[in-house]
Amino acid sequence: MGRMLKNKKILLHICCASCAAYVIEFLQKEGLKVEAIFYNPNIHGEQEYKNRLRDVEILCQKTGVHLIVPPYDVKAYFNRLYNYEKRHYRSIENLPKLRCAECYKLRLNYVARYAKKNGADMFTTSLLISPYQQQSLIWQIGAEAGNKYSVPFYFRDWRKGYFRSMHQARNMGLTVPKYCGCVYSIKERQEKKL
Ligand code: SF4
Repeated sequence: MGRMLKNKKILLHICCASCAAYVIEFLQKEGLKVEAIFYNPNIHGEQEYKNRLRDVEILCQKTGVHLIVPPYDVKAYFNRLYNYEKRHYRSIENLPKLRCAECYKLRLNYVARYAKKNGADMFTTSLLISPYQQQSLIWQIGAEAGNKYSVPFYFRDWRKGYFRSMHQARNMGLTVPKYCGCVYSIKERQEKKL
């Protein structure tokens, strides 16, 4: 596998620095040329967005990865949920499976389109490392986005590297976020604490 991938260009969607630390290391060891993109309109609050972006910039600088940063477009996230609710006549705020599927679709379609337009051979996401994410759904949505834009989705189950990744991030002085990103995930975390 490693030899086949050597020198291929991969566009990595980074959700946060603490998930991406191990993933970048893994992909670079495979011999892939890694470029990264921070497209996360789901993140709630501009300050939180800036904090996570700053950490991703530090990580990319330390690992020699070129980072693409599209504008922070929080409206794109809420529009996506709103359009789903309008089509299906139901609220999905409190239904994580449906809500997260829309969130993955928004981000992975953007990244697939960008990858195709900019000559990447494949794309992937650091979301695949998190045991808190719905990995098979990400795989399915990533593959669909890949088919749509004719650029393969690179799937790997990186969950075994999750704690190593957190450790790597902390060693670089980076923050490990305590919730996924959207306003609903903040609420869900607070409810769990209670
Ligand atoms: S919990 Fe995470 S994946 Fe789900 S909608 Fe919120 S930000 Fe997106």
